[in-house]
Amino acid sequence: MPLLVVALGAVGCLAGGRAPGAAGESDASAGRVWHAELFRGFASDGYALDPISRWVETGRAECDAGAMVRHRSRTLRYTVTAHPAFVERLERFERLIAELAIEHYGRAPRRLAHRGVFACRTLRTRKYRISEHALGNALDFQGLDFGPLPRRAVAPPDLPRYLRGSFRVRVVSHWSPARARDAHHAAFLHRLADELASRPDIFRGIVGPPRPRHHDHLHLDAAPWRYAWFDHDADVTAR
Ligand SMILES: [Zn+2]
Repeated sequence: MPLLVVALGAVGCLAGGRAPGAAGESDASAGRVWHAELFRGFASDGYALDPISRWVETGRAECDAGAMVRHRSRTLRYTVTAHPAFVERLERFERLIAELAIEHYGRAPRRLAHRGVFACRTLRTRKYRISEHALGNALDFQGLDFGPLPRRAVAPPDLPRYLRGSFRVRVVSHWSPARARDAHHAAFLHRLADELASRPDIFRGIVGPPRPRHHDHLHLDAAPWRYAWFDHDADVTAR
């Protein structure tokens, strides 16, 4: 088994409104939960895509489209083209979503909204490094659609009445919601992201709001290094 060690320098795990100076971030505002973490030293657990080089001298991604498979989720009714190794990660993600959604909304969602997995490209900011999407190794998660609360389901005691019907949860509108009534959705999305940040067996890299170009989705990948770059209001996480 190849052992891959990537030293990325400073590590910081922050929660509770302190700015992650070590990771080059800064924010003086209190009451926010920060995730700006780079984990020093990464030891591969044998994941199939770990040994593949992420660097391209030409600046142009070359992709093995033939290695991809179609993943059709029966539970969350979405279809993506992905590497088979990443499909296993997606299935773990689907189980986590169902678990947290039942806790939070009394039922699992019916559909997952996304902007795809496989996309043959380099990073927008660094053209000599391929995107994890080029390996079929990253999902851009936009949100979830819920059906009505089933008659026999046990609703959590704090579930607002208007969430017994169908609704959608979206990163773009609910991560930092403008309306107070959307706080329940914000709390769910934040809990999901926080939980993912502690579960490298599902995803290793997470980028979300308020990072540039990530206001409307969470980028979730299984790159051979770990990072979590997002933050959210701490108030709505308590429930
Ligand atoms: Zn992405």
